[in-house]
Amino acid sequence: MTLAERDQKVIWHPYTQMKNALPHIPIVSGSGAYLFDEDGKKYIDAVSSWWVNIHGHSHPHIAKKVSEQLSVLEHAIFAGFTHEPAVLLAERLLEILPKGQEKVFYTDNGSTAVEVALKMCLQFWSNTGSVSRTKIIAFKDAYHGDTFGAMSVSGRSIFTDPFSSMLFDVEFIDLPNADNIAQIKSKINYLSNEVACFIFEPMVLGAGGMLMYEAEYLDQLIDTCQKQGILTIADEVMTGFGRTGTLFACEALTAAPDIFCLSKGLTGGTMPLGVTTCNDKVFEAFMSDDKLKTLYHGHSFTANPVACAASLASMDILLSSETLPNIQRVKAKHEAFAAQIKDHPKLKDVRQKGTILVIEWETGTNTSYLSGLRNQLYSYFLERGIILRPLGNIIYILPPYIISDEDLDYIYKTINQALNDI
Ligand SMILES: *Cc1c(COP(=O)(O)O)cnc(C)c1O
Repeated sequence: MTLAERDQKVIWHPYTQMKNALPHIPIVSGSGAYLFDEDGKKYIDAVSSWWVNIHGHSHPHIAKKVSEQLSVLEHAIFAGFTHEPAVLLAERLLEILPKGQEKVFYTDNGSTAVEVALKMCLQFWSNTGSVSRTKIIAFKDAYHGDTFGAMSVSGRSIFTDPFSSMLFDVEFIDLPNADNIAQIKSKINYLSNEVACFIFEPMVLGAGGMLMYEAEYLDQLIDTCQKQGILTIADEVMTGFGRTGTLFACEALTAAPDIFCLSKGLTGGTMPLGVTTCNDKVFEAFMSDDKLKTLYHGHSFTANPVACAASLASMDILLSSETLPNIQRVKAKHEAFAAQIKDHPKLKDVRQKGTILVIEWETGTNTSYLSGLRNQLYSYFLERGIILRPLGNIIYILPPYIISDEDLDYIYKTINQALNDI
């Protein structure tokens, strides 16, 4: 039996209708921007393996640090105990995060980082005696993860449909622009006494369709919230660690969010780790002789030392002299290509932020065309050795920063070809 056949017998894959799933491609190794399958076919990983890989696959520096850590301390209970990798990583994260962040809470993925952020905010209000502050504000097309709290604050979609009656109520707002900003601000002001927090993906809404909006309007929303005492959560799970051109997307803001959620690129995409950071205001609300004011949350693998070591190694590379120029190089290449195709008649929109390039196919009103188009685009690029995972009619390139100019040019050329063929 082939690996794909053995897989089919025993494995249930994520986001996959298993009834008619194509055989899953067995990957045997990864190097730089490439993944290799068991027949030796090379794929350009143009989506950074679900947006996590920032420095390339099997990076030797991360591999070395992880293997060193494995033979010294692989795991230790994190209540009552601590260890150097967790402390050092917290120190280094707080140094590079936007100003005001003071404490690091560890979890093990993006969804749990969001759950912790939400619990911090809701309990902040119960600890401080404002029990009526239970509402959460989020963007209509947000994506914050797949656990129940994270699902609740995400846009309603076919992903959340079967659970809709179990999701808590959220006040959804539109993405802000010049036309609607005043209206959104007055909605926030109107609701303010009931609102615990506002959670947002800064400037780029990832899974919701790589939608983009301007920092100046997010600044205004955060200001409005903070004037009303509403806590603000920046979900930088996807945008963190250089993805949008700066270390964190929130560097474009003048406002300072109260809480940050990080994961994905945190370990360079090597292994799971999640982080929720907060400022002193949030942290102080939990300092008490009253046991009930404790944040009772944790996971078995909280602050796993090997994951922290991977993260420290990834940060070495991120802050090295090569990475920022690489990010700027990818950004400039994307900009040039975007300018070249933006008026193509088959395209509805081309947008770009840092190392993310988004190309939206025109579909008109024909929804059956839309569902076919996604699979057609996916297969088209895969056959040509490029991994892209379209979100419906939207393709995006979100590569490891080390991707070569040649590989980017090949991807662009193939997109041009697809514009002719599809
Ligand atoms: C992927 C993602 C999450 C969820 O992270 P997981 O590790 O997949 O649970 C949360 N927020 C954003 C913005 C994401 O892109």
